[in-house]
Amino acid sequence: MFELKVTTRFAAAHRLTMVGEQCENLHGHNWHVEVYVQGEKLDKGGVLMDFGIVKKELKEVIGTLDHTYLNESDIFKDAPPSSEHIAMYIAKELERRIDVDGVKVSRVSAWESENSCATYIAD
Ligand SMILES: [Zn+2]
Repeated sequence: MFELKVTTRFAAAHRLTMVGEQCENLHGHNWHVEVYVQGEKLDKGGVLMDFGIVKKELKEVIGTLDHTYLNESDIFKDAPPSSEHIAMYIAKELERRIDVDGVKVSRVSAWESENSCATYIAD
């Protein structure tokens, strides 16, 4: 099994209810995002897939989040914009966009601070 990792960052604001008092106030994070794609077979060039494809698609997905107030986004109209839901959204959007045989988005981590991170693991 091979795994590639691509990282990026975005800035956004959110507020979360029912979590903790500090989270209920409007605040922002500079999220650090790690995306993993996984597969068993390498192509003729000896790579799992072109990093450039992952980076391009990730940039477009991140563009839907960057510098927004997440609570007002349609993306999170049915689910609070927690780091957990952000990671899941990025994973599912990327999976939909990346169409390479035998390669899937296996996991996405969303770091909301230097020492706090939520990971979505695809099944
Ligand atoms: Zn927060």
